[in-house]
Amino acid sequence: MPNTTTTDVLIIGGGPAGYPCAIRAAQLGLNVILVDKSGLGGTCLNRGCIPSKAVIHAASRFEEISAHAAAPAMGISCAKPKVDMKSLSVWKDDLVGKLTSGVGMLLKSAGATVLNGWAEFNDAKTCTVKLQDGQTQTITAKHVVLATGSVEVELPFLPFSDPRIISSTGALALDKLPKTLAVVGAGYIGLELGIAFAKLGVKVSFVEALDRILPLYDAPMTRPISRWLKTHKVDMHLSSKAKGLSKTGLQFEDGNGKTHDITAEKILVAVGRKPVTQGWGLENMGIDMNGPFIQVDDQCATSMRDVYAIGDLVGEPMLAHKGTAQGEMVAEILAGHRRRFDPVAIPAVCFTEPEIVGVGLTPDEAKAAGDEVITGKFPLAALGKALSMQGGTDGGFVRVTARKSDHVILGIHAVGAHVAELSGEFALALEMGARLEDIAGTIHVHPTLTEGFAESAMAALGQPLHISR
Ligand code: FAD
Ligand code: NAD
Repeated sequence: MPNTTTTDVLIIGGGPAGYPCAIRAAQLGLNVILVDKSGLGGTCLNRGCIPSKAVIHAASRFEEISAHAAAPAMGISCAKPKVDMKSLSVWKDDLVGKLTSGVGMLLKSAGATVLNGWAEFNDAKTCTVKLQDGQTQTITAKHVVLATGSVEVELPFLPFSDPRIISSTGALALDKLPKTLAVVGAGYIGLELGIAFAKLGVKVSFVEALDRILPLYDAPMTRPISRWLKTHKVDMHLSSKAKGLSKTGLQFEDGNGKTHDITAEKILVAVGRKPVTQGWGLENMGIDMNGPFIQVDDQCATSMRDVYAIGDLVGEPMLAHKGTAQGEMVAEILAGHRRRFDPVAIPAVCFTEPEIVGVGLTPDEAKAAGDEVITGKFPLAALGKALSMQGGTDGGFVRVTARKSDHVILGIHAVGAHVAELSGEFALALEMGARLEDIAGTIHVHPTLTEGFAESAMAALGQPLHISR
């Protein structure tokens, strides 16, 4: 490729927002250049969703085997297992490698050009890419799609440059387990990784500024997780703020202003993520902002003509599947299709123990929006499949919220072992505008967890089958 080139579509960032946009745009016949600095798949494949779920899976496997070693169950007994973090990391990295090279192959077969380097914009349609090999490449594009993603927030008094302090990226790259771990922030990352490390035998303590964990979900939803943490002797300091390092670990202040120390070999700081808006010439592009994020309309168009922005860069929810949906949509818009980003709901899952799924409005949110609602809740303890998988005893349930007047479903929430896999059916129901009767009247396979959804709809209709009225 010459040092100066032009293209139909220039996409910056090869994460779950940028690379699907590139694939779809190329499939639709557009000339596409995708620039990424740190590996195709972005945060999600390299240091986020996939490596964290691999570690979570391995930790759950270890915990299960440990439980059988401690007390035979289901007629299964075994010797006490050991975990070797180096080998676990090799397995995880191999998995990540398969997926990222798969993305490379998909881009190639669609006909998109990938440049490995850092892009910096001179103006809204022209950027210079510093390539890995030290060369530079100037690209002028008809359409620009910004998908630079997000990075972890650093606390100034707990800098990631200190070897005791780690971000999620550092936590996923550990090749030796610490004996003790303090986690600052009991949100998505803190809880998912903190629980995984606790399952691997690490003594974990949390410091959370708010008076509850996972504030995005209501209290009944998070109760089973709090119970798991308590049963597994994970310390949770709510209404508390991290203050800095102490001699033995982390210093924090409780809600009454009293200072405490937590012994911790490592400190995981997981207090949120911020969009990547610096270091690539955004200031030269004349684009309006929405707080720290880039402002976009319902087509992901920015205030600058022919410049689009997608994924974490444009705001909450900072979830991979939201970015992918936006990326695919923008590609179709660029190919001349009429599209809008207007999902009924963006499903969210927290891969804690037990798992949490949220799609649409909670009962309180629906009421606050002015709807008169009915709800139906089905405990997983009444479901054969949940019990046969040793779930159901964790206080899990499926809860459906519907408008009272016409029974249109407004939200579906679940907590319990393995419920993440229900998120697809929940999202489909909301997106298709299902009513309670549609779900109750759909034959769900027995025995599966999906029966819990049908049963919750029956309960909302006042016709429960497997629980008493
Ligand atoms: P990113 O994935 O951040 O990708 C942006 C890419 O752009 C990066 O590769 C970056 O290097 C590149 N880039 C930036 N600027 C430039 C430039 N100037 N030039 C060249 N390249 C550039 N979400 C879920 O939905 N489910 C999960 O289970 C989940 N788990 C997570 C677990 C962890 C530990 C973390 C940290 C995140 C998790 N997320 C999860 C969030 C998810 O990873 C993000 O929402 C998603 O990756 C955002 O996608 P994106 O394409 O917008 O940005
Ligand atoms: P988060 O917003 O989920 O949680 C951060 C937590 O830190 C909050 O509860 C907040 O009150 C607390 N906090 C902030 N400052 C603090 C302080 N000084 N002391 C103590 N507590 C403090 O952020 P996260 O866990 O870093 O995750 C970032 C984003 O990554 C999420 O919002 C989500 O979009 C994405 N993510 C998604 C998944 C998933 O979909 N399963 C998994 C991981 C990450």
